[in-house]
Amino acid sequence: MSYLVTIGLEVHCQVKTHTKMFCACRTSFGDAPNSHTCPVCLGLPGALPVLNREAIEKTLLTGLMIDCGSPEISKWDRKNYFYPDMPKNYQTTQMDLPLCIGGGVPLYDHCYPTDARKNIANPGKVVRLNRIHLEEDVAKSTHLGSSSLIDFNRAGTPLMEIVTEADLESGEEAFAYVRSLQMILQQGGVSDADMEKGQLRCDVNISLRKHPEEPLGQKVELKNLNSISAIRRAIHYEIQRQTEDLDRGIPQIQSTRRWDDDRGETQMMRTKEDAHDYRYFSCPDLLPIETAPLLAKVRPLVPELPHQLAGRFENALGVTAYDAAVLSSDKHLARYFEAVTDPAIPGKKVANFIINNLLGTLNERNLSIAECPVATEKLRALLLLVENGTLAANQAKEVFAVLFDAPEKAPAAIADSLGFKPAAAGELEGLVAQVIANNPTEVAAVQAGNEKLLNFLTGQVMKSATTKPNPKQVTDLLRAKLL
Ligand code: ZN
Ligand code: MN
Repeated sequence: MSYLVTIGLEVHCQVKTHTKMFCACRTSFGDAPNSHTCPVCLGLPGALPVLNREAIEKTLLTGLMIDCGSPEISKWDRKNYFYPDMPKNYQTTQMDLPLCIGGGVPLYDHCYPTDARKNIANPGKVVRLNRIHLEEDVAKSTHLGSSSLIDFNRAGTPLMEIVTEADLESGEEAFAYVRSLQMILQQGGVSDADMEKGQLRCDVNISLRKHPEEPLGQKVELKNLNSISAIRRAIHYEIQRQTEDLDRGIPQIQSTRRWDDDRGETQMMRTKEDAHDYRYFSCPDLLPIETAPLLAKVRPLVPELPHQLAGRFENALGVTAYDAAVLSSDKHLARYFEAVTDPAIPGKKVANFIINNLLGTLNERNLSIAECPVATEKLRALLLLVENGTLAANQAKEVFAVLFDAPEKAPAAIADSLGFKPAAAGELEGLVAQVIANNPTEVAAVQAGNEKLLNFLTGQVMKSATTKPNPKQVTDLLRAKLL
C-alpha cells in the first residue's frame, strides 16, 4: 500500500569567510593538518570567542535572499555534548533566537534530476523554511584501523544550519531543493556550497503515514548525506523500507540511521532512548546581536536570484525559457552571457553560441566558465562578424576554435587568416552572373519554386571564389537576382 511521505531537511553550509567564527584563524581546505589553529578553536580552557562580523552579515544576507525574517535580537547558546572532534564539550550555536526565521526556497524546474523534470508533481513549489542559525563547525576526524587522526583546521569554521519545515514529499523534491539552494547560496556569494568539499552537508528527516488527517508518523533521521544523488537514493530506500515495515504491521520508532552508499541501504545508529539531552543554555561569553543595523547594511547586497535573472533574460533579451534557466544556473555564466550581449546581436544568438559552442568546448577541456580563456569582448566581436555578414555561422565556429587556443588574437584577424572574408562586391556579382549563366536548368528550377537548389548554386559560387565569402551573402545575392 502507499503512504504519504513527509520530509524535512537540515542543511549545514559553510559560510564563505576569510576567518573562523570565533577566532582569527584562516578558514582553509586542503592545507597541512592542524596548521590553522589557536587556543579558541582548539577549545583550550580560558580562551574567549570573538564574533566574526562577515559570517553574521552573510547569514543575514542569505535570509534576505530567501525572504526570512530576523528577530530584533539574536543570541548565542551552548549545545553541550562530548565528542573528540569538539574538545570544549559544547558547540556554540543558536537555539531560540536564530539570525533568520521563516522564509522559503523556490524549487527550480531544472534543478530536479534530469529523469524527473518531465513529471514534476508540484511545479513552482516554494519549500518553507523554519530557520537559519549560525554555529561553528567541528574538527575533522579520520579513522584508520584502531587509531584516529584529527584535524582542527575545520574546527570553528562558520556554519549556517538551514532548516526546512516538513514540506517535502519525495526524493526528487529533496534533490531539487538542495540544488536550488546551492544555486542561491552561490549567487549571493555566501558559500561555494561544494558538497564534494564538505561545504554542504545534509540531514534528512522522513516519516510515513496513511492519511493527511493523521499526525505525522515517527520520524527517521538520515545523517550526513554528502551528495545530492545520495540524498535521493537514501530517501527512495527509506520510503521502501518503511513501507514494507508498515505493511507488515511493524511501527517505526524515532531513530537515526546512517546511509551506506556502497551497499545502497540505511543502517540503524541509535533510537530515541539514547537521544542526547543537550542542556542548552545562553552563552555567557558572547553578547547578543542587534540585527537591524546589520540588515540595513546588507540589504543593498541582495542579488538577483537565479529565477529573477532567468526571467529577465527571457523577457528583456528574448532567450528561451530553457536557455534562460541554463544561463542563470551559475553566476559566472550569467555574468559572462550578459557581458557578451549587445544591442546589435539578438540575445537568442548569444545564448545559442554560449550554450552550444562555448560550454561544449569548456566541458571538453574540463574548464569552468570562470576559467574561460576567451574574453567576453572577443566573443562579442566574433558574433558581430556574423551579424554584419562577414562570417557564416559555421565559419564563426571555426574562428572560435582557433580563438579558444589563441585568445589574445582578434576574431577578425583569425577570420582573415582562415580566408574567411567577404568577397569584393564586384567579384561576387561577376561570379554569381557566371554561375547563373552556366546552370540554366537549376536556375529554371529555382525560379519555378525549388528553392533548395539555391544551395547548389551557392556552392558553385563558393567554389569559384578566390576567398571564402559568407555563403549567406552569396545566397542572398542569388536570391535577389533570381526571385
Ligand atoms: Zn583559531
Ligand atoms: Mn547544527
